[in-house]
Amino acid sequence: MAAEFYPEGALIAVLTTQPLDRTLDYRAPEGGCSLGAYVEVPLGPRKVLGVVWGPGSGDFDISKVRPAFRVLEAAPMRDELRTFLEKAADYTLTPRPAMLRLCTRAPGLGDPPSMRKIYRLGEAEPERMTDARARVLEVLRDIGGLSLTLGELAEAAGVTPSVVKGLVKQGAVREEESPRDTAFPHLDPGLAGKALAHDQAAGADRLRAGLRAGGYGTTLLRGVTGSGKTEVYLEAVAEYLAQGRQALVLLPEIALTAEFLTRVEARFGARPAEWHSGVTMTERRRVWRMVGEGRAQLVVGARSALFLPYQRLGLIVVDEEHDTSYKQEDGVLYNARDMAVLRASICGARVVLASATPSLESWANAEAGKYDRIDLTSRFGASVMPTMRAIDMRAEDLPASRWVSPTLRREVMARLERGEQAMLFLNRRGYAPVTICRACGHQIGCDHCDARMVEHRFLKRLVCHQCSETKPLPEACPACEVEGKLAAVGPGVERLGEEAAELFPDARIAVLSSDMYTSARALKSEIESIAQGAADIIIGTQLVAKGHNFPLLTLVGVIDADLGLQGSDLRAAERTFQLMRQVAGRAGRAETSGEALLQSYQPEHPVIRAILGGEEEAFWRAEAAERRQAGVPPYGRMAGVILSSTDVQEVFDLGNAMARQDAPLRRVGAQVFGPAPAPIARVRGRHRVRLLVKADKGVALQPALAEWAGQFRLRGQLRMAIDIDPQSFY
Ligand code: ADP
Ligand code: ZN
Repeated sequence: MAAEFYPEGALIAVLTTQPLDRTLDYRAPEGGCSLGAYVEVPLGPRKVLGVVWGPGSGDFDISKVRPAFRVLEAAPMRDELRTFLEKAADYTLTPRPAMLRLCTRAPGLGDPPSMRKIYRLGEAEPERMTDARARVLEVLRDIGGLSLTLGELAEAAGVTPSVVKGLVKQGAVREEESPRDTAFPHLDPGLAGKALAHDQAAGADRLRAGLRAGGYGTTLLRGVTGSGKTEVYLEAVAEYLAQGRQALVLLPEIALTAEFLTRVEARFGARPAEWHSGVTMTERRRVWRMVGEGRAQLVVGARSALFLPYQRLGLIVVDEEHDTSYKQEDGVLYNARDMAVLRASICGARVVLASATPSLESWANAEAGKYDRIDLTSRFGASVMPTMRAIDMRAEDLPASRWVSPTLRREVMARLERGEQAMLFLNRRGYAPVTICRACGHQIGCDHCDARMVEHRFLKRLVCHQCSETKPLPEACPACEVEGKLAAVGPGVERLGEEAAELFPDARIAVLSSDMYTSARALKSEIESIAQGAADIIIGTQLVAKGHNFPLLTLVGVIDADLGLQGSDLRAAERTFQLMRQVAGRAGRAETSGEALLQSYQPEHPVIRAILGGEEEAFWRAEAAERRQAGVPPYGRMAGVILSSTDVQEVFDLGNAMARQDAPLRRVGAQVFGPAPAPIARVRGRHRVRLLVKADKGVALQPALAEWAGQFRLRGQLRMAIDIDPQSFY
């Protein structure tokens, strides 16, 4: 089917990536252009990227309309992607140009195919080894047989390009000419997969039946950790690839991709395209182009991979679909899980949402019959789910500033004696959450935020977890100037590491926290070596809860199971339930069975009881009933409004005006609450105020919100962000 075509000189409307919430009129360039074509157009003195969005509106002064410069050498944006972009913009109340930027996040998209110089490891040793040279060679060794451009290599090694050039002269690094964008190697869906267990095979059959049925559909694939969800959805991927359709697998965490890529390679004989923040710009451009030409069959990536220009997208898998990192929390506020369902419904693809602990949203959609649901109830092979118990901390004898109870200590000892691994889980980065002056009681806070600074001994600094500002730990109290009285209060993983070293002096202890590794690559390799037994005790934040396999691990001790239950977040119970079940799921994945012990001061709390009882359906039903009662998501609609400014009066004035002038909201029966200072009332020097809008489920909330917010002009320092279906309320 030929796309609509505009001959040279015809009036066209172009959506650009510039912050203007409308299309601009141009004349079609030499040779004409088709609907959806990527074009370069003049805007003032500049040249900007745009997409042909339709015929020109003609409401500009015709004599002033300028011609587009040229059509880029890229497949035009398909109708499906244009529709998705518009609907996603409407849903998230995002200006279309910002959505278009999400769809074009790679450099040099329009450059013609060309050659470039690339660098890989050579055979010779350099005559003289320097630190800089050694770093270059190490980077090249690290990436295996792959190659980098001069700029990428120099940056990764932290050297000047001349260091690389010097190594080329000596034959230690090879310089080659290579076409810029090459197709990805063919993935062979015909290779044999693993022999599936009965329930796995039944699940794979159901997913394949979805493909035969054709059209859009979403399946919730719920399976306990280790049940083989990945094996099951890889079978579905195989089927789609065999039909010549493209597939996308979204993962919540870059650190998880390494293991997954290895599994894909084992299954299909080659590695798929990768798309996430750790991918170089050159590689991004290649992925973008190859996906658009249908020469990348499978993409594995982070949430923004949803916005690539697929030609025949058939399947989107959202692994660990409950994970909060699918919600983008700055810039365009969108939830990749929901956007995956939206895009699939537009392009007639199927979605698989995989999780051991689904979000209540997905659970409710399955209950309501909107999603199909597949359950894998047992672990694959001989391994069984870990048993779970609470340690009642009220009965434990524990000195101040110690967090491992005698009971937990005995259990860890028993594992160490058997040569098994134990994990201590604490969802707090750093050494201690609070630094207090024992002379005057002052707590050290951030200068720019209403937040306490967190001590990171590893970095030898205090860090603000809101704005990332750091400062050295002072000798004297900044308030009373008394020296030597500053004390750490409360536990963080680093401090827990110290305690563990005292309690278990012979054990090899590894502390895993995202801030302790300089690169995703370093973290990945550390996790791999720990999985193979390089540590006896693993101490970690929620990073370790996410999907990693530790086959030797048989005990998980949760230091503070009550931590997530504090606070007023409507999802506190759900999140605690998910996190605890996920962490516990790390234990006992091989032959030996595992155990999870939860230290709690309130073991009778309904959420803790539900976690221990493992009666997941009962938990979800109770949680659903409560939310339905309160009219909150997923049984009601919500939007957060965050106003901020350097001037506190200005934010409150706007907040109050918005609360008063709520007619557009009242017309659809929506209610506005606030303004109230946000829980963190100042971040990066900006004062923050929140309003919350609630409405019934069936209400078309976005148009009302747009009309309401449109009444106000943001002058000076004021900023407004509207967060549809907010996940965090800080
Ligand atoms: P999940 O994604 O549900 O946590 P995985 O797919 O990662 O589970 O499977 C857990 C482990 O069991 C993996 O090491 C996987 O290779 C193995 N496994 C699962 N199903 C099979 C199978 N049918 N044959 C062989 N190994 C399997
Ligand atoms: Zn700060």
